Amino acid sequence: MDKELELFRALCDETRFKIVKYLLTGRKCVCEIVEKVGRAQPTVSLQLSKLEELGVVKSRREGKKVYYFISNQKVKGLLAKKDFSKWKGLDRREIEWYPIIDENKCIGCGMCVTSCGRNVFSFDSERNKAIVANPYNCMVGCTTCSVYCLQDAISFPDKEYVRNLIRKHGLLGKAKTELLKMKE
Ligand code: SF4
Ligand code: SF4
Repeated sequence: MDKELELFRALCDETRFKIVKYLLTGRKCVCEIVEKVGRAQPTVSLQLSKLEELGVVKSRREGKKVYYFISNQKVKGLLAKKDFSKWKGLDRREIEWYPIIDENKCIGCGMCVTSCGRNVFSFDSERNKAIVANPYNCMVGCTTCSVYCLQDAISFPDKEYVRNLIRKHGLLGKAKTELLKMKE
């Protein structure tokens, strides 16, 4: 059977879908999964076995507990599609954090285009230059592409810009609340 069709079939069942969504937040033991999805343990165990059979999850025994985690990157990508319009509840378009390319330095190596996981860049083949096509997809505070650019053609605002946002909008408190939610 077609691999992608198999994956969609794996996620078509409500219990399996709930399990996989929960596992997006990290590895979990069976009792945590049972509690979260609100189904009887035999049902959850059966669906976990199916997900394992279908190559969606893997399990690992640690002491007396068995932990499950998503092993299929395609499934992760499919379900983890992020909405980049907000950052910590703030309108992303009001945050001036994105890469700026110095065209005189860019040699069109493509490292930034092929490494950014948020589709921030595109490539102008005619001019052999990278372009910042979706600036507000950039993760606030991330500077990874500037590390990869051997020409030092990519720059970002000073990190104090982000730190001031954290102070101004009380984001430390929000982070604590998020942490607590992740444990639920
Ligand atoms: S990594 Fe630097 S040199 Fe390479 S395409 Fe991007 S900006 Fe240009
Ligand atoms: S800083 Fe990170 S998220 Fe932003 S464009 Fe570069 S690699 Fe992508």
